[in-house]
Amino acid sequence: MRDTSLLQLALALTPPWTVSRADFDAEAHRLDIQIDFAPGSRFTCPACGAADCPAYDTARKTWRHLNFFQHQAYLTARVPRIRCETCGIKSTSVPWSRPDSGFTLLFEALVMTMVSAMPVAAVARIVGEHDTRLWRVIHHYVDQARARMDAAEVTDVAIDETAARRGHDYITLFVDIDQARVLFATEGKDADTVAAFADDLAAHGGDPEAIEEVCIDMSPAFIKGITENLPNAAVTFDKFHAVKIINDAVDQVRRAEQKRQSLLRGTRYIWLRNPANLSERQRAKLDSLPTRHLRTARAYQIRLAFQDLYDQPSAATAAGFLKKWHFWATHSRLEPVIDAAHTVKRHWDGILRWFDSKIANGLIEGINSLVQAAKSKARGYRSIRNLKAIVYLLAGKLDLRLPA
Ligand SMILES: [Zn+2]
Repeated sequence: MRDTSLLQLALALTPPWTVSRADFDAEAHRLDIQIDFAPGSRFTCPACGAADCPAYDTARKTWRHLNFFQHQAYLTARVPRIRCETCGIKSTSVPWSRPDSGFTLLFEALVMTMVSAMPVAAVARIVGEHDTRLWRVIHHYVDQARARMDAAEVTDVAIDETAARRGHDYITLFVDIDQARVLFATEGKDADTVAAFADDLAAHGGDPEAIEEVCIDMSPAFIKGITENLPNAAVTFDKFHAVKIINDAVDQVRRAEQKRQSLLRGTRYIWLRNPANLSERQRAKLDSLPTRHLRTARAYQIRLAFQDLYDQPSAATAAGFLKKWHFWATHSRLEPVIDAAHTVKRHWDGILRWFDSKIANGLIEGINSLVQAAKSKARGYRSIRNLKAIVYLLAGKLDLRLPA
């Protein structure tokens, strides 16, 4: 068997395409495979499907293919424009590559598999290509898969923002809670992000009016965006964010008190944790403090009580519990705690909604950490568009349909 026949089989070429020659340069670590069609070959018209169109003219093109052992491999071919009796002169494509790509389909499939597992810059180094070329491939497959995405069944959505670049910019993520996938990622964290989500949802067979439950932090921008764009959605305020508001109040009380009470120094993380999560040393420190006389300790007890809200058996008992808690907190004479209690009061329904919806942003927090980890491994992304593509790739459960 001649080397060209072996390569022809390995490349699975079908008529009229054949391997015409192969040149191997061991020093350059490079294999060049020439592909050609026989004179007089006929081609199918890409517009009308007529099968017997002759070549009109050709343009030479080269594609990077999968490595040949440790050597880079390239395919080169004359790509014809054809003359169709009905449609006139038409460009054609070749079966091993997409139009306008400098890579073969199999090389692109390899790249897509690799970038799901490691930073694009690392893949670029390994395969010896500039990452700008790889980003073009990523955007192509992500955009195609996103275009196929079906959002018809979506009813429950979690929304949260995440830092995009060096903490100055944000993107907002919209997560389908049932299928645990990112439906939509968009720049910013204002009410307009929800409008953009509603449009995108509709463009993917979903219905903004069919959204029943939404989980968010207490951001007024998201509340406004939901009111205006997801008219039938009940809002649940995320547990984690609600507790954090009380926790921040405890920390403010501690900071103010520490100016007079030096024994509070070094206790910051004791008050931020739950008793069960304290280390032995922290436990001992807490036990040594005269807690009955500390404002910080009172604030801490109020925070722990707020967390107990979520152990209530029903929305009705929870409402009674929250009322008592609110009375206690607002009569605590601890300004930051009173402020936090007012915030809770303003978000009462959405906090209690949890007892019916039982949705939280834990899922989206997990996706956020995935995104942040990818971001830090990649040392940031040059553009929001690139970051969004990676978010979809890692967390969008995309149907990529990679060539095999
Ligand atoms: Zn035609």
